[in-house]
Amino acid sequence: MSISYREEIKDLKPYKPGKPIEDVKREYGLDRVIKLASNENPLGCSEKAVEAIKKSLDNLSLYPDGNTTILKEALAKKLGIGVDEVLPSSGADEMIDLISRTFVSKDDEVIMADITFPRYIATTKIMGGTPVIVPLKDWTYDLDGMLEKITDKTKVIWLCNPNNPTGTIVTKDEVLAFLDKVPENVVVVYDEAYREFVTRDDYPKNSIEFVKKYPNVIVMRTFSKIYGLAGIRVGYTIANSEIIENINKVRGPFNVNSLGQVAAVAALEDEDFLKKAYDVNLEGKNYIYEEFDKMGLKYPASETNHIFVDVKKDANEVFVEMQKRGVIIRPMGGTFIRVSIGTMEENKIFIETLKEVLNI
Ligand SMILES: *Cc1c(COP(=O)(O)O)cnc(C)c1O
Repeated sequence: MSISYREEIKDLKPYKPGKPIEDVKREYGLDRVIKLASNENPLGCSEKAVEAIKKSLDNLSLYPDGNTTILKEALAKKLGIGVDEVLPSSGADEMIDLISRTFVSKDDEVIMADITFPRYIATTKIMGGTPVIVPLKDWTYDLDGMLEKITDKTKVIWLCNPNNPTGTIVTKDEVLAFLDKVPENVVVVYDEAYREFVTRDDYPKNSIEFVKKYPNVIVMRTFSKIYGLAGIRVGYTIANSEIIENINKVRGPFNVNSLGQVAAVAALEDEDFLKKAYDVNLEGKNYIYEEFDKMGLKYPASETNHIFVDVKKDANEVFVEMQKRGVIIRPMGGTFIRVSIGTMEENKIFIETLKEVLNI
C-alpha cells in the first residue's frame, strides 16, 4: 500500500516560478539580465520601509503580533473604516487561499474569468469546488456573462480589477450594476492589486463604497505592487466585521511576519514614493505603447504596471530567445506575452531585444 493524495489536488500543477536573475546569468554567461516577468516595482520600495525593517531586526526571535494591531490601526485610520473591518495577510496570495477555505465546500460553484489570476482556480480546486469559467470579452471581464452563470450552487465570484494579465478594467458604473444583481448570499471578491496604477476616471477609485453598500463584497489589496514590498509578503482585505471574523478563524496565528508589519506601516505614509512609482510606470507604458505601435503589435490598453501583447509568434519560443539575451518576460500561451513595465532603461533594452527576436 502506498500513501494516497487528496483527489482534489490530482490534476493541479505546482506554480512554476521564472528563473532567478542569477541563474539566467550563469546559464547563458550574461553580465546583465533584467526581469520584467513578475510585475515587481522597478524602483524598489520606500526608504521609510527599509528603515523600519532595520529598526526591527533586533526582534527576530520574537513571534510577530498575531493581531497585527499597529498595521490594522494604521490602515483603519487611513481608510476611514473600523479596525474590525480590515485584515492583513501574508500577501494577497494567502488571502485568496483563506477566502476559499472560509467559503468554498465540495461541489460549490465558483465563478471566475478564463484569463485572470491563476490562484482563484487553484484554491477553488483544492477545496473541491467547481470552477465556472467565463471567457473575457475584448480582453475584459464579461460581468453580464458572469451573472448568467449564477445558480443555487454559486458561492463565490472572483473579480480582478484591473485584470492581471490583460491590464483591462471594468468601470465603477459597471461594477455597481453588477453588484446590484448578484444575490446577497454570493460572495464577490474584488481583487484590486493594481488599483494605484489606474489612470482612467471611470475606474472605481474608492472600492470601500462597495463594502459599505453590499455586505457580500470582500476587497483585497497588496503591498507587493506599487509599494514594492513583494519580498516581504503583506496584503490586506477589507470587508464587514462578520466576514473578517470568520476569515480570522481560518488563518494561522502568526501569518504576517514582523518585518512585513513594520514595513507596511511605514510604506503607507510615503506618498512621494507612490507618486514616483506611478509616474515612472505611466511614462514607461506610453513609451512601450509607441514602440509596439511602430512594430505593428496589438495589445489591450493597460491600467496596470504590465502589458499583454500579441507578438504573433509562439510565446514560449519568444520567451526562450529573450531569456538567452538577458530579458525575462512571461509567456502567456499562444502568441501572447506579458511584460512588466520597468525603468526607462529596462524598457529600452526590452524593446531592442524584442525587435531582434522578432526580426522587426
Ligand atoms: C500580484 C497579485 C496578487 C498577489 O499579491 P501578493 O500580495 O504578492 O500575494 C493578487 N492578485 C493579483 C491580481 C496579483 O496580480
